[in-house]
Amino acid sequence: MIDPVTVQKIKDTADIVDVVSDYVHLVRRGSNYMGLCPFHNERTPSFSVNKSRNFCYCFSCHKGGSPISFIMEKEGISYHEALLHLAKKYGIEVRERELTDEERERQTRREGMMVANEWAKNYFIGNLYEKEEGKNIGLTYIYGRHVTAEATKAFQLGYAIDKGNDFTDAALKKGFSLEILKATGLTGVSQQGSVYDRFRGRVIFPVINTAGKTVAFGGRDLKGGPAKYINSPESEIYSKSRELYGIYQAKGDMVKENKVYLVEGYLDVIGMWQSGVRNVVASSGTALTDGQIVLIHRFTDNVTLIYDGDPAGIKASLRGIDMLLAHNLNVKAVPLPDGDDPDSLAARLSPEELKTYLREHEVDIIRFKIDILLKDSKNDPQQKWSVIRSIVESIAHIPDKIKRDVYIQDCSILLDIKETTLSSEVAKIRFQIVEQEKAKRRAEEIRGYTENKEGESSLIPTDSENKNDAGETRPLPDTNISPLFPLERELLDNCLKYGLVGLWPSDKPEHENELVTVVEYISEELDVDGITFTHPQYSLVFEALKQIVPVFKRELAEEESVIAELVEKKRKEEFERIGRMNISLSEIKREEAKLEECLNEFAIAEREKFAKNYILDKFGSHEDDVIRNQTNRALAEKHQLSSLFTKNRPVEKIEEKVIQIILNSLNVLKNGIIDLQLKELMEEFKKLGEDQSELQRELHVKIGEIIHMRSRMAKDIGDRIISPKR
Ligand code: ATP
Ligand code: MN
Repeated sequence: MIDPVTVQKIKDTADIVDVVSDYVHLVRRGSNYMGLCPFHNERTPSFSVNKSRNFCYCFSCHKGGSPISFIMEKEGISYHEALLHLAKKYGIEVRERELTDEERERQTRREGMMVANEWAKNYFIGNLYEKEEGKNIGLTYIYGRHVTAEATKAFQLGYAIDKGNDFTDAALKKGFSLEILKATGLTGVSQQGSVYDRFRGRVIFPVINTAGKTVAFGGRDLKGGPAKYINSPESEIYSKSRELYGIYQAKGDMVKENKVYLVEGYLDVIGMWQSGVRNVVASSGTALTDGQIVLIHRFTDNVTLIYDGDPAGIKASLRGIDMLLAHNLNVKAVPLPDGDDPDSLAARLSPEELKTYLREHEVDIIRFKIDILLKDSKNDPQQKWSVIRSIVESIAHIPDKIKRDVYIQDCSILLDIKETTLSSEVAKIRFQIVEQEKAKRRAEEIRGYTENKEGESSLIPTDSENKNDAGETRPLPDTNISPLFPLERELLDNCLKYGLVGLWPSDKPEHENELVTVVEYISEELDVDGITFTHPQYSLVFEALKQIVPVFKRELAEEESVIAELVEKKRKEEFERIGRMNISLSEIKREEAKLEECLNEFAIAEREKFAKNYILDKFGSHEDDVIRNQTNRALAEKHQLSSLFTKNRPVEKIEEKVIQIILNSLNVLKNGIIDLQLKELMEEFKKLGEDQSELQRELHVKIGEIIHMRSRMAKDIGDRIISPKR
């Protein structure tokens, strides 16, 4: 952890023009600088750098932000690393500070879990080779499945003893805390409060991440029980949708061969591996996820699916295709005979034969899909039509236009359909997909699920943290569908832009001589109506805003004395100047009056200079990802009042305008909430049966009230209503 004083020094020193200049040739344009955007390809400059705001922004791809955000984005590094990068650039000596207790706890908890898993892995391995039960049951099973001794070692297979709490007892005795053991999922606690081993009498498959850390385990049943496999639960160190079994053993060969074989099961990976096909990973029985595809894509562009030859396996292989294509991977498949899986195939063939088989049977994925679908559709024209639709859908997912065109040509022959027809259908769906992707990106940006190099922000619950005691997931609000989010966002953005503008004198005696800021006003207004930001990120940023208001006021008060001193100094100088002038008394009076006006203007300008960049300074480089990203996003948008803080503007007019903007976004949000309530009540009303007339009447009254409120509000908003931009 970097010491906060050093952090502040880095933030104060890093100059946006200077920082960006390392990457972009900047040309001065008025008070700004422009250049070619470093985040996307362009021929005419859209990238603007604002020196006074210490902020950059691309008008075309909308990337940018504070110097720290810029470096993070450009170098693809974490917040911490960006600070170090800037410290080095400016020769600032970095002092590290101790972690806070909370940070240390989080850190040590994760580390503790990894250590526990590592120990557990070795314990299970020990069981397999040294304990009678392990040797007799575990090892016998493994060798019975034709797994070689070498593969057993390479995949670090183990065995969990089927006796009481064998594992948990040993781990506790070793000194691991129950808390940590529970967190890893290795130990469970029953409703009655007694502990139990998750894995008992099973062969253990450790799930190892790319960094070589054991993050989870799979355990195979040996007794024909109901659950053939059980796996570790999701935890702080294990997100199932981002891991692939075998990736640690395969990654080197994935790069070397520039290809990966994707199979379904643990034993499929091991079977192929010991037959010499080492670039193989498994999604472990679940549908492929985006996170897993991103992981694959780090090592190769070429994926070949080998799923079981039974109908279930074929169906599974069809399911992941569009997602793989959408990531611009080259996708192929090797169909297997019904009844075979990669494991059985590898066992049946010699390594040479296996390689030949894979080479000779590999087909392009679209071809594979057509073959399967056409086989089922016989010659029914209705069914053929649905095959074409499905193929068009897949092709449309490919981002690369040239690739799409090649497929269109091929498929026109295979499906016996005109190329132009196919091409226009693909174009139509492609358009929809691009639109959907845009919407999804927007939602993701809102949600903050942008992949973060150091893991999720601590303030937003991750999937694993977001569980209650029973292990059920509390769903995060669905950002895709809440109609309130854009309205909340508009209000929040205005708070980030104008939040510290003083509106009017406070009527609270303890805040005498203070102006009520926009943030305070909005906060009160929301409280009165019992409204909160429903979006977790917006709510978090708004809370943070509320917290900096008093700090700001305190600092502003300190600044006031500095300003007062400056004014006093100026006044003295000017007085002397006027005194030296050879003018009449009445002229002196006039000069002095003019001077006072000037000084007043000067003080206001100084105050504004302080307020204007305050939020950007505090939040634009904030260490919390959510606060930093939301602030940079909001402040990158064009200010409706960009002329707000310019000189020579009538002071009162500005507050008036801010009030108008703020009130408008507040009312639009309230209106949105009312609309939503109305809609819900209407739905409820519709659902009521004839015999529920009492309830119907009640609802009717409620609906009437809301409609009334709505029309009153509409009058309030009047013609000032501007629909929020999305
Ligand atoms: P085996 O050959 O021992 O039956 P497999 O790896 O071929 O194992 P499949 O039935 O093909 O098993 O299942 C593929 C993968 O799906 C498994 O490796 C495992 O990760 C997962 N899986 C299968 N059954 C279950 C289950 N009951 N619970 C959880 N995961 C399972
Ligand atoms: Mn199998």
